[in-house]
Amino acid sequence: MNQGSRTNYETRRTTPIFVREVSPVVNDQAFYDLRWASGSITTEREWNRITATIRAIPPDCHSILDVGTGNGLLANELAGTGKSVTAVDISEVALSKVRGPTLLRSADNLEGVADRSYDLVLCTEMLEHLEHATYVGALREFNRVARRAILITVPNRELMREHMGLCGHCGSRFHIWGHRRRFTQDDLETLFPSFATAWVSAFGDQLPKYNWPLLWMRTAIAKAWFIDERSPCPECHSFAPAAPKYPSLARLCDLLNSNLPKRRREPWLMALYRVR
Ligand SMILES: [Zn+2]
Repeated sequence: MNQGSRTNYETRRTTPIFVREVSPVVNDQAFYDLRWASGSITTEREWNRITATIRAIPPDCHSILDVGTGNGLLANELAGTGKSVTAVDISEVALSKVRGPTLLRSADNLEGVADRSYDLVLCTEMLEHLEHATYVGALREFNRVARRAILITVPNRELMREHMGLCGHCGSRFHIWGHRRRFTQDDLETLFPSFATAWVSAFGDQLPKYNWPLLWMRTAIAKAWFIDERSPCPECHSFAPAAPKYPSLARLCDLLNSNLPKRRREPWLMALYRVR
């Protein structure tokens, strides 16, 4: 890492545009071990995301470092296309699902991975999970270890409140998938000092957003938050959600919401960066 790129990151740290953190997750490793141990459901939408990601990989990239491999689906699928893939995650449970080579690391410390040693650093649906210091460190590491390109996907302008849960055990409020930041297309324009942005685009079948006033009423008044039964509370690791205070008001909000015209949006953003 040369002094120039370090200076870039220090400057960027003070810019507010792409960072809007929500609840802190106390122990990431424990959270994701529990999260991946409780299984994952692969929807048709997820498969479409994986297929679109594989299609976007530049043909001159043969060795790939998949950072934050999660359920390993993409790494396993990619290995089948003849690419050489190494999967990185902080969760051993996640890595146990990967068939190829793996590396147990945090994204901000890819110790043992040499500078410019992989054609492509791939990072899908992971950056939104990181708290600030880890996020900045991960970008620095991607910039260091990628030789030709970096490809990332993140949720597109996520409505965070639509995915917030309330723990029935300790009462903490948390994002049910552990997201801590939301991204817009602009946030992805300049992330890596040694790489130029080739393109940024929204993709996936459009998803409806919950009507905002009704969402506020459902959560702030009815105290009915959201649930993913495969995600534990990051504070106390309980899987039990809090019961809604006014369930019939929450049901009314859901009913009204389902009958209103809704804003629709592609669920993901994808960005490709090429070495300068
Ligand atoms: Zn809790």
